[in-house]
Amino acid sequence: MALDSDRRTLIAGLFVAGLAAGGAGGHGGRRARTPGIAITIDDFDLTDTPVLRGEDRDTAIRAALQRHQVKAAGFVAGKYVDEKLAPRVLRRWSDDGHILGNHSFSHRSFDAQQPDALMDDILKCEPLLSGYPGFRKLFRFPYLAEGKTAEARDGMRALLARHGYRNAPVTIDTSDWYIDNRLKARLQANAGSAIAPYRRFYLDHLWDRATFYDGLANALFGHSIDHTILLHHRLTTGLFLGDALAMFRARGWRLVDAEKAFASPVLRMQPNTLPAGQSLVWAAAKADGRFDKLLRYPGEDGDYEAPRMDALGL
Ligand SMILES: [Zn+2]
Repeated sequence: MALDSDRRTLIAGLFVAGLAAGGAGGHGGRRARTPGIAITIDDFDLTDTPVLRGEDRDTAIRAALQRHQVKAAGFVAGKYVDEKLAPRVLRRWSDDGHILGNHSFSHRSFDAQQPDALMDDILKCEPLLSGYPGFRKLFRFPYLAEGKTAEARDGMRALLARHGYRNAPVTIDTSDWYIDNRLKARLQANAGSAIAPYRRFYLDHLWDRATFYDGLANALFGHSIDHTILLHHRLTTGLFLGDALAMFRARGWRLVDAEKAFASPVLRMQPNTLPAGQSLVWAAAKADGRFDKLLRYPGEDGDYEAPRMDALGL
């Protein structure tokens, strides 16, 4: 398993700073525990892709969750809710016991909007979801952008609360979308291209990012937490989610229902960083002040993965 330089830097930096978690810290041994991971899947763009049609991709994703007996959360952007397909897919998510949350209608970055405009856009999406029993007033910010100014950040927090919504934070951010873009481009150029090398890269990437953010959580809180990982309703998730869940279990992580993870106090934190957003663990580390040299901005992006994918010919 490759450790990228970023994670090596984190580990080395934590030890140099005397911040590597050596025990249960101030929280008592009861809470020193193995990390947990809840699956959250964004956007629900059900467009057909190479290998899997949109609906078949959804069937594969739910089958993987079912096999591993874990309940996820789907964050749906209203612009992707088409009349024919979405009601079937969203009904199945709800019937399977997964949560459906709001990802706004237009999926615009909050950094380019005013709080009132974003709240209107969230409320525009709500009727597309509220009829399903799995619907919860949980909101996932598009691009994890929670405001560039204190006024926007705090204004949005107040508006969400006023409308009964909660932010649904990500603690493990990934660039699955970027790996997916490259896999799809390869398959479009040559339908017979090997998928296995992409699967390997994808699993390595998820593991690398998960251990990075869990390392930060340990340094911050003295223990692991029940994480929420950000994936997208894309071909990579359809093809590889089952392998990812098996990997985390095999390596000692607990699979956690999304609703349980969102209920934990850690996921209710609201760090006052600017620009607000990113992974919640990233933001908490930024607010803490001791980790600045270890925190790149943005936390994740395709640009970070491109050189290694180029080198591997992916
Ligand atoms: Zn999104």
